[in-house]
Amino acid sequence: MTVDNGLIVSFGEMLIDFVPTESGVSLAEAPGFLNAPGGAPANVAIAVSRLGGKAAFVGKLGDDEFGHMLAGILKQNGVSGEGILFDQGARTALAFVTLRADGEREFMFYRNPSADMLLTADELNLELIRSANVFHYGSISLIVEPCRSAHLKAMEVAKEAGALLSYDPNLRLPLWPSAEEARKQIMSIWDKAEVIKVSDNELEFLTGSDKIDDETALSLWHNNLKLLLVTLGEKGCRYYTKNFRGTVDGFHVKAVDTTGAGDSFVGALLCKIVKDRSVLEEEAKLREVLKYANACGAITTTKKGAIPALPTEPEVLTLVKG
Ligand code: ADP
Repeated sequence: MTVDNGLIVSFGEMLIDFVPTESGVSLAEAPGFLNAPGGAPANVAIAVSRLGGKAAFVGKLGDDEFGHMLAGILKQNGVSGEGILFDQGARTALAFVTLRADGEREFMFYRNPSADMLLTADELNLELIRSANVFHYGSISLIVEPCRSAHLKAMEVAKEAGALLSYDPNLRLPLWPSAEEARKQIMSIWDKAEVIKVSDNELEFLTGSDKIDDETALSLWHNNLKLLLVTLGEKGCRYYTKNFRGTVDGFHVKAVDTTGAGDSFVGALLCKIVKDRSVLEEEAKLREVLKYANACGAITTTKKGAIPALPTEPEVLTLVKG
């Protein structure tokens, strides 16, 4: 039974990125670091809430100062914390992110193990998960047990209760034992989701092709899928459904830090889908929604960090209306 409350439940990791105060230097050379809360599923939950939607986060944090700080950030942003757990033994995950001179990011993770990896299926708040209208997740929670089983269980319970499943793999290669394992596990849950968003880089990685074209994208198509999106950075996104496909151009902005752009895009998209599922079937409506989602992604690149840069609805409408 679907409880029609518009709730978007986002499952997975929340962590702290430590970003060097100076770009273009190695981690060892960095004179200092700024802490930037993140974790794609948590970013999506906050993106939804900031746009006026109803969101909950499900995941585990360390019972430490950082874990409680992150839970506080979710709460301050109006995200339900009913699905948050605290681990007594393991720390909140940390990631040190280097901004290389060419603008690309490199990650070094502290997860030995971190609290998020220790979430078990038995600990899940199933009542909350069953009340989801949309259940969203990534792939980092698939990397190790017991979190992997918790992820699979949560997905199954959400699906049984009638939620729409939304998947953004969010590839973080250094976290996987090998590229082959990453591809295999990411694809192991591929045919469950009804909405999937990949970036152009992820499309190349998952298909092994060096072409970002329709044929490559459609090689990822499966029968349960209602919408496949390929995000193209400043160029916007491509969309694919059973009956139509196309491109929605991005917005021109002065990008400062692209962290969280994809999560902002997904949050915006899910906010609209939860209100009106017909956007998945009507192309004109979908194009409007993707324009809105592109605007959210674009705005998120104009400020440093992911969470501080996630927009509110009036900011998005200002950009959309030009
Ligand atoms: P991810 O963050 O998952 O790698 P992208 O970088 O493709 O995903 O960004 C997601 C969306 O955010 C894009 O589809 C686009 O709408 C917007 N976006 C990202 N980078 C820019 C940019 N430099 N200028 C304008 N919009 C951007």
